[in-house]
Amino acid sequence: MSLDILTFGEALVEVMRTEVGQALDQPGLFTGPYPSGAPFIFAVQAARLGARVGAIGAVGQDAFGQCLLNQLQTDGVDIRGVHVLPDHTTGVAFVSYNPDGSRDFVFHARYAAAGQLSPNMLDKELFKGLKCLHIMGSTLSMHQDALQLGLRALEMAQDSGAKISFDPNIRPQLMSPDRARYAFAPFMEAADVLIPSEEELLLLGDAYNVDAVVQDMLEDKPELIVVVTRGSDGCMVMTESQEFSVPGIGPMVSVDPINGYDVKELDPTGAGDCFDAGFLARWLAGDSPSAAAEFANACGALAVTAKGPMAGARTLAEVQAFMRANQTKEDEF
Ligand code: ATP
Ligand code: MG
Repeated sequence: MSLDILTFGEALVEVMRTEVGQALDQPGLFTGPYPSGAPFIFAVQAARLGARVGAIGAVGQDAFGQCLLNQLQTDGVDIRGVHVLPDHTTGVAFVSYNPDGSRDFVFHARYAAAGQLSPNMLDKELFKGLKCLHIMGSTLSMHQDALQLGLRALEMAQDSGAKISFDPNIRPQLMSPDRARYAFAPFMEAADVLIPSEEELLLLGDAYNVDAVVQDMLEDKPELIVVVTRGSDGCMVMTESQEFSVPGIGPMVSVDPINGYDVKELDPTGAGDCFDAGFLARWLAGDSPSAAAEFANACGALAVTAKGPMAGARTLAEVQAFMRANQTKEDEF
């Protein structure tokens, strides 16, 4: 059966400190392994919402790889594209939590299975009848072969008529913002759906404010949907205004602001990934961009309320129940 959504990227397990304030440069307690990796958190969230989703990546032939594969199978993610590499171990992210809410990481990724992504891992079968390819800039930033895989996947998805979704997920420690502007340009141009943060939009765009950046983009592609994530403040949907278009003047931007939910943040890992999955699952199921973003806003909020990368990814019924029981904050905009 053909897939609704396909994604690709770093397959990891996460091993995290049990207490806040335990630095990574001294002995202390860890808990894990937990299945992780942004594209895989995304895939699991989309699957829990009922989408047919596949993920492409690589794990080692070891217990950590099995841990991730077990989770993907439990959630019904299509793992035909997950390669098991006998000569590499599964990627690991070690995470600690600082008292100010920030996190520190030690990654075993570049020389692990996760770092071996290359275009020859792409299987044409997965693209047949595909509805949407979701691309994350953090994966493209890992190394040249990962970027090449992304470019080839983009071509294959376009050939099969799939929509393209792009979350820039800029990671300055992996790739400088200047280089990201250049490397991400083909993905920005191809995207039908863009899900950046405000900072990312300003870094990647050619104008000084978010409205002007999106206006430029809509000139080239009027049907583009931009969903800007805003952390605990929620998100906003930016599309071409149907009401105020003036012939001869460029497109007007319609902004639909969506306030954040008031939740207790226990672990920020995965908010962006669950948000992306929530938006695409609902948009591909026929929701309007604003309705899909309202749903995604709840997925992102729920993601931060549970410790563990995939623990906050809820089912469709759970997200709907959360939306019925909770109101978003007021006056954020
Ligand atoms: P990352 O890429 O690091 O996962 P991001 O910057 O892409 O993060 P955020 O803006 O942090 O993504 O989060 C995505 C969405 O999740 C937000 O737009 C919002 O809807 C929701 N969200 C995130 N954090 C919170 C929070 N503390 N409270 C309520 N909602 C949140
Ligand atoms: Mg992000």
